[in-house]
Amino acid sequence: MTVQVRQGREWGSAPLLTYGFALLVTLGALLLQLSVYAYIRTTPFVLFFGAVMLSGWKGGWGPGLLSTGLSALVADYFFLPPRYAFSVRPEERLSVLLFIVIATLITRLNVRERAARAEAEVERARLRDLFMNAPAIIAIHRGPEHVYEFSNHRNTQLLGNRELLGKPVRQAQPELEGQGFYELLDRVYRTGETYTGTEAPANVGSPEQPRTGYFNFVYQPLLGPDGRPEGVLVFGFEVTEQVQSRRRLEDTERRLAAITRNATLGLFMMDARQHCVFMNPAAEKITGFTLAEVQGGPLHDFIHHTRPDGTPYPMWECPIDRALPTRAQEQGEDVFIRKDGGFYPVAFTASPIIEEGRAVGTVIELKDTTEDMRREAEREHLLTELTEAVRLRDEFLSVASHELNTPLTPLSLRLQALARLTDVEPGSPLAARLGREVEEMRRQVKRLAALVRDLLDVSRISTGRLTLQLEEVDLAEVSREVLARFNLEAERAESRLSLHVEGPVVGQWDRLRLEQVLVNLLSNALKYGAGKPVQVRVEQAEDRARLVVRDEGIGIPPEALGRIFDRFERAVSERNYGGLGLGLYVTRQVIDAMGGRVTAQSTPGQGALFIVELPRQTSKR
Ligand code: ADP
Repeated sequence: MTVQVRQGREWGSAPLLTYGFALLVTLGALLLQLSVYAYIRTTPFVLFFGAVMLSGWKGGWGPGLLSTGLSALVADYFFLPPRYAFSVRPEERLSVLLFIVIATLITRLNVRERAARAEAEVERARLRDLFMNAPAIIAIHRGPEHVYEFSNHRNTQLLGNRELLGKPVRQAQPELEGQGFYELLDRVYRTGETYTGTEAPANVGSPEQPRTGYFNFVYQPLLGPDGRPEGVLVFGFEVTEQVQSRRRLEDTERRLAAITRNATLGLFMMDARQHCVFMNPAAEKITGFTLAEVQGGPLHDFIHHTRPDGTPYPMWECPIDRALPTRAQEQGEDVFIRKDGGFYPVAFTASPIIEEGRAVGTVIELKDTTEDMRREAEREHLLTELTEAVRLRDEFLSVASHELNTPLTPLSLRLQALARLTDVEPGSPLAARLGREVEEMRRQVKRLAALVRDLLDVSRISTGRLTLQLEEVDLAEVSREVLARFNLEAERAESRLSLHVEGPVVGQWDRLRLEQVLVNLLSNALKYGAGKPVQVRVEQAEDRARLVVRDEGIGIPPEALGRIFDRFERAVSERNYGGLGLGLYVTRQVIDAMGGRVTAQSTPGQGALFIVELPRQTSKR
């Protein structure tokens, strides 16, 4: 909206027009005077005063004086005796002079009145200009319908530069419906009472881009001459940004308060004098003090003043109070003293607060570690107990395996002797009966011996007593021998046992240990092989030897593959398959000791594959 301010310059101020007007009215006065002269002869100047007055009123000094001079001339010429001549009789000179003086005075009055009028006009325009450009929202509504009579730039812009003037407010700002503003305007108009609103939300903006803003405003009644409201002046400021940033601040504050209120860590803030200015509930709970109670001096003097041995703890020795002057974060553990005098262990972090390059305070995070320490002690106690239990178990294992092993050698010797005895008379019924029994007994004793050996090995391994006797060994040959020993067992398990070797695979190994590995892997393959074929393959790949044992049995679940090489670990139920879960453990330890590695692969239900890889030159460990 553009403002047109009338600056007191009207058509009447153009010189040509005002002088012309002066001429015209003077001429008019002359004509009128001529027409009435027949009836009124006494005062020929009366009508000319009127012309002078009009000319001066319209055009100021110039036209006023022009009209005065002209009037004097024509009055003299037409009406003063001698008529139709410019000469004046001495007795008329005074009245001419008087006319001129009075006319000049009239013009002077007119000029003054004009100046006053112009000045008022300028003042009004200035005021209007001020309102128009004011950085506030200003509008004037007239009448009970609150018709827009005035809207300054701010207000018009706020409403998307829409057309407002001449429209009732309900039509000009329909989006205010339901927000209570119409009703407020009605009330102010009706009662004549001023209304002040703060941070009131209002729908503003253009119809295409509506938005909600917040406003501080005043509805001021405009009173008419009779003291009754004629309209309402609206004066306001938009405070949307302030409201929004305050709300953001309040939000942040609320969140911060929720965090500190619910934190389990004790949180403190100290000012530059090391006085406490903030404590969260956890901090109050830990120390036993409220914030008010610790505000009289440095925080140190309340919660950290004495060492557990009763000696004073000076503030300058306290790492927490050091964070501020050194501007470095301090972390550590210490013992604090509660309000009731009890000591408690803590873990703390003290961080200096640096604002604009100045250290202004410290934030302290504090954890009462009493419970942690108790748990730690408990854990340590358990660990000691556990270590002791393991030591006892290993000791028992070692003693038990030795004790179990001692009678085994004479037992198998006796059985050998018994077997030889039956061989003397192979055909006799005694030999037939005893021979089978003795064979079975020897088999069981062999199994027992293998179990006891595994047990012995476990105790050797756990005490680091596993030793290797390295010599030149042909793995192919060892495999052939061991497999031959397994023929009977394979038969019993109804499995076909086959060996694939391409030639000798020689290396520096412990022969008996290699045999043991093969025995373990083969026993497992037959045990878990479900009566399906078992294949053993021995290969040489450059400086390494490979031994592969494959069966087509029950297989191993994937999650068990990683642990079956550990002590006592098994992937089958005790009820279906007996065993101690030590064979693979000993196997891995032995292979490790010879610098090799053993791995297992399996598809459950389809069998298992064990691969042993050994360097041919063992560097003895
Ligand atoms: P044990 O056979 O005495 O249980 P091992 O240490 O020899 O102990 O084997 C550990 C476990 O690994 C076995 O209990 C079994 O679950 C699994 N396992 C070993 N070899 C095989 C195999 N060839 N097929 C299926 N499972 C096997």
